[in-house]
Amino acid sequence: MKVCIDAGHGGKDSGAVGAKVTEKWIALDVANRVATKLQNSGIEVVMTRDSDYFVELADRATISNNTGADIFVSIHCNSASESATGTEVWNYPGAAEDKRLAQSILDKLIVRTGFRNRGVKEENFAVLRLTKCPAALVELGFISNLQEEQTMMGFDYQDQASTAIVEGIKEFAGIREVEPLQELETVNDIVWELANIGIITDKDLWLKKLQEDSNSYWLARKCVNYIRGKQ
Ligand code: ZN
Repeated sequence: MKVCIDAGHGGKDSGAVGAKVTEKWIALDVANRVATKLQNSGIEVVMTRDSDYFVELADRATISNNTGADIFVSIHCNSASESATGTEVWNYPGAAEDKRLAQSILDKLIVRTGFRNRGVKEENFAVLRLTKCPAALVELGFISNLQEEQTMMGFDYQDQASTAIVEGIKEFAGIREVEPLQELETVNDIVWELANIGIITDKDLWLKKLQEDSNSYWLARKCVNYIRGKQ
């Protein structure tokens, strides 16, 4: 799978202007983190820009289309009145798959950043219209709001937001996160797991048996870890 990550604006186009930072920098910081995290998960990444230079909107879509990207995600910050807050993700009007991608990314962002949920919205944005694959445009938060600007400038926020976007992309693509299983070692854990799986019912009896007989303990431990690994 290949994902095209589009950091909004760049170069002569600063995007929205906050009190301390401009949109193009937050978009780039988060986009670079998303790219690294996707690559660390073995997913191929194309970036429309990876530093501070200007790229036309149509060229961003062309980069995505020509490299055969399967998913396109554009990253921006919002701007309105000083009191406006929250995250919204946009998709192309009427595109069901785009909407599913947008919703998946938005859900993860809200959980990880705690920003206000402004919902999924539809707009005929050039990068959404011209890209051939499912595409979504993320408005992380409002750079015009002093508090959100401050938060979005922070490494903690950028780390959480980028992780959330990666999670949203993976969920959309049906890539399941598999947590590595911790090996069960203690007799108590093994007996509980055997009971959970439904192999034994009398926990006390088995607790005693495994404590007294090291061969049975090792055998049971092997079985349980094997079954857990297969689930
Ligand atoms: Zn923007």
